[in-house]
Amino acid sequence: MDTQKVKGALDWLSKNGYMPEDWETVEYITEVLEKQIPKEPVEDEYGHKCCPACGWVILLNGVQEERFTPHCENCGQAIEWSD
Ligand SMILES: [Zn+2]
Repeated sequence: MDTQKVKGALDWLSKNGYMPEDWETVEYITEVLEKQIPKEPVEDEYGHKCCPACGWVILLNGVQEERFTPHCENCGQAIEWSD
């Protein structure tokens, strides 16, 4: 899922009257949807690959994973592995 699709989904919900009244719920839904947009991992000072949303270590430095995790185990952020 990309940014455009998430924005489209939010637009559709609001146009069709499915958007909740309270702002906290809107923010929660937005946050959940935004985590479906794959983001590249960030590197910490030890060279570990970390989740860009919560900082959870998703790949230890020097460890060759056969299959990179598609989502952060901690918060569900979709991860984009470019290399
Ligand atoms: Zn995370």
